[in-house]
Amino acid sequence: MPLYGLMQDRPLLISSLIEHAARFHPDVDIVSRLPEGGTHRTTWAGIRRDACRIAHALKQLGVGEGERVGTLAWNSHRHLSMYFGVSGAGSVLHTVNPRLFAEQIEYIVNHAEDQVLFFDITFAPLVEKLAPKLKTVRSYVAMSSREHMPAIDVPQLLCWDELLDAQPDEFTWPEFDERLASSLCYTSGTTGNPKGVLYSHRSTVLHSLMELAPDTFGLNSAETVMLIVPMFHANAWGTPYAAAMVGTRLVLPGPHLDGKSVHELMAQEKVTFSQGVPTVWLMLFQYLDAHPELDPKALGLKRVGIGGAAVSRAMLERFEQQFGAEVVQGWGMTETSPIGVVSKLLPRHAGLDEEALTQVKLKQGRGVWGVDLKLVDDAGEVQRWDGVSRGHLRVRGPWIASGYFKGEGGSPIDEDGFFSTGDVATIDPDGYLQLVDRAKDVIKSGGEWISSIDVENAAMGHPAVAEAAIIGVAHPKWQERPLLIVVPRAGHVVDRASILDFLAARVAKWWLPDDVVFVSELPHTATGKLLKTKLREQFRHHVLPTA
Ligand code: ADP
Repeated sequence: MPLYGLMQDRPLLISSLIEHAARFHPDVDIVSRLPEGGTHRTTWAGIRRDACRIAHALKQLGVGEGERVGTLAWNSHRHLSMYFGVSGAGSVLHTVNPRLFAEQIEYIVNHAEDQVLFFDITFAPLVEKLAPKLKTVRSYVAMSSREHMPAIDVPQLLCWDELLDAQPDEFTWPEFDERLASSLCYTSGTTGNPKGVLYSHRSTVLHSLMELAPDTFGLNSAETVMLIVPMFHANAWGTPYAAAMVGTRLVLPGPHLDGKSVHELMAQEKVTFSQGVPTVWLMLFQYLDAHPELDPKALGLKRVGIGGAAVSRAMLERFEQQFGAEVVQGWGMTETSPIGVVSKLLPRHAGLDEEALTQVKLKQGRGVWGVDLKLVDDAGEVQRWDGVSRGHLRVRGPWIASGYFKGEGGSPIDEDGFFSTGDVATIDPDGYLQLVDRAKDVIKSGGEWISSIDVENAAMGHPAVAEAAIIGVAHPKWQERPLLIVVPRAGHVVDRASILDFLAARVAKWWLPDDVVFVSELPHTATGKLLKTKLREQFRHHVLPTA
């Protein structure tokens, strides 16, 4: 007979997070900028009250346990209260990315079988257009006060304020198996249909605990976190849950993500830590470029969390030197909840010179407890952690997806239970993972891989370059050679030769792009990544001067 421990077997439920926040940090601010204009202030106690009201409202609307509730919404106190109210009640919060094409949203909502769709008024025209095609949605809730209700023609249109005001302030959260589904998020699916990643209460709570560790994001009660990463993108990196666990003050920017708005809100609310993908930081930088009278150090920003795409050297240095802020890079994906590795220095790096330190900081990060990493070659052979051997990255752990909703796409798991990420990486002897590329973006020149991330990052260090992307273009001798596509920085003049000279000092000779073209902007995916499929399509017939 196995000898079991005699500890209480309490389920890890999302409702426990909001209960804790409201009990131990009731007065801590939650500040939101609203789609309808203005700034809204509530507290963790207020978020709990609204979460309880949502739970009652779902009962009234006939939404059962395990049934999906969709949102098309920005980061706000309303969306935050749904994070706790919907999952706490035992239903599943389905955060839909409103930046996807309308056809993809239609597919996703129908595939998820959402029963109710909550939406910010920004998306009212989209909702009206989609409603006739949404097969399972019975009611639509505009996340708005009475006075801002959109005049749209959809069945069962309800007003957030009216719906919530009619509900009691207290709700007794049900207790259930921690492995039950809590939220659902579809990957953007640049090829094929989006696939649903279905998180559980257990995976969410464990992932939140990890985010509190000082060696990861170190969330705590002394911090004011501005959450720029959208709440429709991989649970906003899990921060809403982790913040509730420790009563972090949250600042939610709503739809106002342009450089000026972000800067204003950071200054006004004295933000100490902010999380977002590189593209939002580039927008902030552009605003600051145009306003040299503003001193970024005056913001008092201590740390920035960056993930979703690689942090360039230029970005790292700008945050460190001009803002006086530490950059905490993370790698992950929707399927990994999303944190897989986090970049933090080790005590033994203390003596390194500036350049060596920068090289460490530019790596995506080290494994955190809970995530096992593995590299394999094309034949499935395990690769060494020597910082040089490249391989397909596979990960395993209690907050890594085991499959997709309704079994779409087959099993992504290998014989040892590892999930195939689709990324190519190296891992060094200290366990620092460095991303080479997404496998589908890899440029293969004469059978060897060129890391587009390295070349793009190097190019972005050029003082006249705002953004850069590199893609492979057909070449008669080498099969593929790199083409660099550059967005010049406002007010700068730049030419091909100056960029190639700059790169020649920074990347291997055979990685140098065969050509450079200039564009006014680059296409991005709905989650802010370079849309390389579109670039490859656009430059398919580009003739390289070396061809
Ligand atoms: P999408 O829905 O666009 O696929 P994900 O967030 O799931 O959004 O994307 C995950 C991918 O983003 C990873 O597989 C990886 O290629 C890329 N990525 C995430 N973090 C980083 C990072 N720090 N550096 C480079 N690439 C990253």
